[in-house]
Amino acid sequence: MTMAGRFAVAAPDPGLRAGAILEIDLGAIAENWRLLACRVASAACAAVVKANGYGLGAVPVARALAAAGCHQFFVATLDEGIALRSALGRAAEIAVFNGPMPGSEAEFVAHRLTPVLNDPGQIAAWRRLAAPAFVHVDTGLARLGLTARELAALTDDPPTMRAIPWRGVISHLACADTPEHPLNAIQQARFAAALGHFPGIRASLAASSGIFLSREFHHDLVRPGAALYGVNPHPGQPNPMRQVVTLKGKIIQVREIDRGETVGYGATHAMAGPGRLATVAVGYADGWLRSLSHRGCARIAGRRVPLLGRVSMDLVTFDVSAIDPALARPGGTVEMLGGDYGVDDAAADAGTIGYEILTALGARYHRIYRAADRG
Ligand SMILES: *Cc1c(COP(=O)(O)O)cnc(C)c1O
Repeated sequence: MTMAGRFAVAAPDPGLRAGAILEIDLGAIAENWRLLACRVASAACAAVVKANGYGLGAVPVARALAAAGCHQFFVATLDEGIALRSALGRAAEIAVFNGPMPGSEAEFVAHRLTPVLNDPGQIAAWRRLAAPAFVHVDTGLARLGLTARELAALTDDPPTMRAIPWRGVISHLACADTPEHPLNAIQQARFAAALGHFPGIRASLAASSGIFLSREFHHDLVRPGAALYGVNPHPGQPNPMRQVVTLKGKIIQVREIDRGETVGYGATHAMAGPGRLATVAVGYADGWLRSLSHRGCARIAGRRVPLLGRVSMDLVTFDVSAIDPALARPGGTVEMLGGDYGVDDAAADAGTIGYEILTALGARYHRIYRAADRG
């Protein structure tokens, strides 16, 4: 027997090596896309897969959505667009929200990426290529997109207007998750006025929450991201989307603790009585945000276990005093995200939004993709 042979493991299981298992249900993502596509009926439904598919893996997510019938994808950066192009092949249209940085225009063309042009500089540089592009008009977010004055200058310049084959006109809502906010109607009116300069060109205003405003916000193309991944696009109402992620953290130690003893860094939690703690191999380095200290929870066999003390880098502790010791044992798992406690629940406890919980999900998790072939 060789030295290597003596240490070899018969069937290495990558799931055994990680501190937690993240399951991503591609079938649920495809179903969420179909639900949104149905809801917008005559408008087309794109998919936003920026930030690595909101942390869930842009390539597997986009492949599942392409198989479900999605043809139009949006990413944020040129890098993301190049990676997606090589994963999806030539058929899909891939648009890049941030548009070209000066000098990167040729790479867009080489990878058949459609930029979103956000300012007069990007338009002037792109004009020479005479290649397809979206134009972004700002209607009230003051982030990206042409200001009203810049739009007027562009539309007063017919040679430039004609030089670029426009693939669409986009704008982005600031308050779509607050249907009664007056800025929604103001942005809609400003967008409608801008569209008057682009007859026959596709118009796109709504992201996830905009789809749940009235139909007039749908225009020709909607651009959902978060809702595809299970975030509620309709805060304050029942979530119409399916949950996509399940996170199971591994219990690495279970300990008895006495009344009056403190738990974790800063000794910020003192036990009111004797109990049992489970230490789990997930921490803020994995995106289990430190703001979940004293606030988060998990589930063991469907029963809620509160998070005690501070979240540390690699570890977090849960109170398992009320749980059958046969269930809360080293090697077992606690469900930290799932059907009972989804990304929006963790976000509420952390004082943030589901978007941030998703995009923070850690690189150390062992990821398992459930196939989309059930749909
Ligand atoms: C991120 C983004 C979207 C998707 O937004 P969601 O709220 O995640 O649906 C759509 N359009 C633009 C311009 C974006 O930046």
